Amino acid sequence: MRSILHCDLNSFFASVECIKNPSLKYVPMAVAGDPKLRHGIILAKNELAKKYGIYTPETVYSALRKCPNLVLVKGNYSDYIKYSKIVNNIYLQYTDRVEPFGIDECFLDVTHSLKLFNCTPLQLANKIRKEVKKNVGLTISVGVSFNKSLAKLGSDLKKPDAISEIPYENFREIIYPLPINMLLYVGKSSYSKLYNLGIKTIGDLATYNQIKIIKKMGKAGKLIYNYANGIDYEEVKKYTDISLPKSVSKGLTFSIDISDKDIIISYIKRLSDIVASNLRKYSLKCDTVSISIKYSNFLIINRQIKVNSTNLFQNISKAATDLFNLNYNGEKIRAITISVTDLKSNFDEMQLSFFDNEENRNIKLEKVVKKIDDLQLLYGKNKINFGSVLK
Ligand SMILES: [Mg+2]
Repeated sequence: MRSILHCDLNSFFASVECIKNPSLKYVPMAVAGDPKLRHGIILAKNELAKKYGIYTPETVYSALRKCPNLVLVKGNYSDYIKYSKIVNNIYLQYTDRVEPFGIDECFLDVTHSLKLFNCTPLQLANKIRKEVKKNVGLTISVGVSFNKSLAKLGSDLKKPDAISEIPYENFREIIYPLPINMLLYVGKSSYSKLYNLGIKTIGDLATYNQIKIIKKMGKAGKLIYNYANGIDYEEVKKYTDISLPKSVSKGLTFSIDISDKDIIISYIKRLSDIVASNLRKYSLKCDTVSISIKYSNFLIINRQIKVNSTNLFQNISKAATDLFNLNYNGEKIRAITISVTDLKSNFDEMQLSFFDNEENRNIKLEKVVKKIDDLQLLYGKNKINFGSVLK
């Protein structure tokens, strides 16, 4: 039996702002992308603001209607990264299996640490909670269980600054009465599918006919059905193993050498689409796009250009096509490769985009791309895409 903890920093962005400026602790306050924009979004709030019924994400406009005295603070993402790393370093004193799940959550596998610290999982969770509070000034909620999905569920049961254990011996008693959307990966769309089947609690799901669930919801259905039954063997990764690629590239050697610019550009678009979609799979964005052109006489030229952080096909394809148009000498080409480098986490950028309004123009396109990614996963890569790629 494993001992897994899920540690979740409470109201993380707001708590960091309260450490930086302690007077904020005593007023209802919230962190917003841009507090001056009434359609801006509340990213986090302190306990006092929570009492006014302010939730995340809601608009600044609606939050101010609930609480006209609400103090709004602009988010500082680099501070949040700094505090996140400080807390992760505390976790790492207890186990090397620390797997971040977003900026304010981590899974910890402490199975082999219990002997070392001579304590129960609950006692260890308490030790970690106290240490984070004392040394950093942040509070965490900890879920203690025998797998990741139930540890995650546990950390939602009591907060802030609390610990909940879901032991194997009586996990059914604890989780069966809970609403189904408390289960990991039960989002809005799964929730309505389950609701239509009459499934409202985790117990309803656990005791439902498994085949019917899988028929209705596919792989995702099998996953959440297993979670509801306490079945989840996914391991907690080592902190040092969470390595991301340094570059992503896709190349193509043509069956015959070609010099028709239109055809070459249509291949560049195709390759850019594959590169972009692989970037999104890793939740990464790139700052540099490169093209490598191999001519039929085996001359190879490599060119690169800086771009605004992106994982969108449109931006990568535009950069690659510009590079091609600038550097192509009109000779026959044997092969072409598109690469992207200077990669960074998409999550950082996603958060930053709330803070930076210039980035907002890409948000709509990103939503469309997300839908296309989902549909391609379900129905195959060639069933839906942008017209310029399919051509
Ligand atoms: Mg949190």
